[in-house]
Amino acid sequence: MENCIFCKIIGGVIPSERLYEDDKMIIIKDIAPKAETHLLMIPKKHYSDITGLDVTTASELGECLLKLQEISRKLGFSDGFRLIINKGEKAGQTVFHLHIHILAGDNLTGF
Ligand code: 5GP
Ligand code: ZN
Repeated sequence: MENCIFCKIIGGVIPSERLYEDDKMIIIKDIAPKAETHLLMIPKKHYSDITGLDVTTASELGECLLKLQEISRKLGFSDGFRLIINKGEKAGQTVFHLHIHILAGDNLTGF
């Protein structure tokens, strides 16, 4: 997708360290972390937000989530983490390529 910053990262046009990668997604560090650990799980296919999925793509996203057990162990945050998906500007979405925030660390406040 042209002019999509996450498509550019996925395509390697904008360099970004990949903490994890498989055929469906990448995981990178958020450029402006809001927690001790703040990662972004980004599906390689461009969907503008969580409401744009059909059954097949929802299932692919589910496969990505299922990998979190192993990934969280490898990356050292398996003792606790929070997932956030923003949908729409009103909720704080600023990049319109579906992504899941992964927050972890000692100072996660409750909400
Ligand atoms: P949203 O607000 O759309 O839910 O989340 C977008 C996130 O992407 C923000 O937390 C922002 O800091 C992060 N972000 C925006 N541009 C870049 C970038 O070029 N590289 C990385 N690693 N993160 C980015
Ligand atoms: Zn995109």
